[in-house]
Formats: sequence, structure tokens, C-alpha cells
Amino acid sequence: MSDKKRLLTGDRPTGKLHLGHLVGSINNRVRLQDEYQSFFLIADLHMLTTKNSPEDIAQIDKNAHDMILDQIAAGIDPDKVTFYLQSGIPEIHEMYTLFQSLVTVARLERLPSLKDMARDAGIEMPLALLGYPVLQAADILCVRGDLVPVGKDNIAHVEITREIARRFNFLYGETLPVPEGMIGEVPTLVGTDGQAKMSKSLNNTIYLSDSPDEVNKKVRGMYTDPNRVSADVPGTVEGNPVFIYHDAFNPNKAEVEDLKTRYRAGKVGDVEVKQKLAAAINNLLAPMHERRAEYEDPGLIEEILYHGTLVAREETQQTLYAIKKAMGLAGVWNRIRRKVEKRQKNLAKPGE
Ligand code: ATP
Ligand code: MG
Repeated sequence: MSDKKRLLTGDRPTGKLHLGHLVGSINNRVRLQDEYQSFFLIADLHMLTTKNSPEDIAQIDKNAHDMILDQIAAGIDPDKVTFYLQSGIPEIHEMYTLFQSLVTVARLERLPSLKDMARDAGIEMPLALLGYPVLQAADILCVRGDLVPVGKDNIAHVEITREIARRFNFLYGETLPVPEGMIGEVPTLVGTDGQAKMSKSLNNTIYLSDSPDEVNKKVRGMYTDPNRVSADVPGTVEGNPVFIYHDAFNPNKAEVEDLKTRYRAGKVGDVEVKQKLAAAINNLLAPMHERRAEYEDPGLIEEILYHGTLVAREETQQTLYAIKKAMGLAGVWNRIRRKVEKRQKNLAKPGE
């Protein structure tokens, strides 16, 4: 392993990656993959916090495959980075248990993101969801991550990781890095419904793998200014999802400014604004579709994930040992075993 600083982030295998992931986190992953030794987690145990039915679990393999392919399509080089599967590294949950004593229930209960997730899933807060940020601390610290590019909804969780790392170092001696969170160029991208953040679970997404036809259809159906009943009525640009997307995804700034001016003056219809947006998004996705096609080899993505998980597991085992050593836990079991072995030997001595 190189001595570069380390970057770590992950996604729950609840579906394919979308434009929110791109501007919230993936663009940063692509940009920093040379500068940092990068680890990208498929967080299947995190999925169980809100989705634990056998049907959801049966989707993990396919979703993990699609999400890795999405990242490669977006420009991640699989030869440079490590993709790994959370449930393939049991030491992560061992670490999670050790970290649980370093944070209070009250601290976790104050996090609005967890309440939002429970509400969106239509469930009462399970213990697993309350512990989500603590498990995330184990994900990050298991490979000793220094930088964590996440969407805004997740930055408060990275703060918990920082607190856990600091508390650990204070109690048991300097052992863990205190990682920095990094928010993307659009901290939270709104969904096509204009109501909530774009989210795989909310059916308001444009996926990185969507075909031009799908993009056209989704953009046509997008929420705009509800008070604008016809094209000659002046419209509101601020907070209008169609213009938020133009700002985020249309590199032709002159075109965007022209559309905004005409929209405010009631001189352009939604149809033109949306057609130009769909064209910009399709231009952004076209090279991704090409790269994706190069990796359509069955089993190749699984091989990438398999080997990455072995690499990350070794890293995790090293970190877990350092953690247990610092805590004074590493030797307890061995000391007991040695005492038992000694006693057995003594008992077995003839004539005594
Ligand atoms: P789910 O609905 O299952 O929670 P999700 O779409 O919210 O899925 P996650 O796997 O929870 O995706 O998030 C992965 C990463 O992408 C996190 O860093 C999160 O902050 C970021 N992210 C997700 N949605 C958005 C969004 N709409 N805008 C910006 N960042 C986002
Ligand atoms: Mg989420």
C-alpha cells in the first residue's frame, strides 16, 4: 500500500447511482483518486437499517454490481482504487461494537438525518439506524481514512466519526486518524419531484445509466414553478429544480443565463427550458455510457469487488489489532487461553 493519504466513502446498495450522487460525492471521488489512496465501500449492512426484508437483501448483488459499474462509468479507475463489500469484512462490525462505548445515545438521537431516514422509510427508529453513524465510523476508520467525500445529509455522520476517533485517542492513546468530511459542489441535489433530495428510495431520480429517452421523459415530467400556468407568465428561477439542474449540469453558462432571463420575463416556455436541460444531461451521460459498455464482461465487476474486499479486509485486521492493543483488549483472550493450557498441562502431569 502506498503512503498517500486515504480517501474513503460508500453507498448503500439500495439501487443504481444517480445525479445526486454524482454532484454530492462521485465527482470528488473521480477528481481525487490519483491524489489519495481511495476506498469505496458497498455498505450492505447499512442498508439493513431501513431495508431488511428478504426481497431487499436479494437485491444486494445486483445493486452492488450496478453501483460499481456506475462509478467506473463516471471515471473511477478500478486499477487505482479499492472497492469493498462491508459484509465481507466481519472485523468492521467488531470495530463497531468497540466504538459503541465512545458515543452517547443522546448525541445520536439529536441527529436529524436519522429521523428523516426513519420517516422516509415509514418505520420507528430501529437500534441499527440509531447506530448507523457508529457503524459508519468503523467503515471509515477500518481503512484509516483521512478524507470522506459525502453529500450534505451525511456530513453530520462524519462528525460522529471524528468525535469517536478523538475520544478513542484521548482514552487509549493516539491510534486513529481524525478524518475530514468533504461536501460536493451541490451539497444536496433536489429530486425531479422538487419535493425532497434526489434519493434512490424516493423515485425522484435521474440515474447515471438512464438512456437518452429515459432522461427526456424524466425531464419532461419535472416539477417547475407551480404558479406559472403558461409560457407568457413571468416565472421564478430561484429554487426551481429545472434551473437548479441547469446550473449543475449545463456547462453552457451563456445558454443558462439567456434561459433564466427569458423565463423571468415570461418569454420562454417550459418545453424549451426542459429540452435544453435534457440535452445537457444526455451530453454529460453519453461518455459514461461508452465507458460502461467496456465493462459489460460478466463477472468482471464481481472480481474487482472480491479482490478489493480482500485488500480492505487485511487493512481492517491491522487497524482492529492496533485498536485492541491500544485498549488493552488484544491480550485478554490469549492470557486466559495460556492459563488454561498451563493448568491442563499441570493436571496431566503423572503423580501430581
Ligand atoms: P437511500 O435512498 O437508499 O438512502 P441515497 O440515494 O440517499 O439512497 P445513499 O447511499 O444514502 O444514497 O448515499 C450515498 C452518498 O451519496 C452519501 O454521501 C450521500 O450524502 C450522497 N447523496 C445521496 N443523495 C444525494 C443528493 N440528492 N445530493 C447530494 N448527495 C447525495
Ligand atoms: Mg441516503
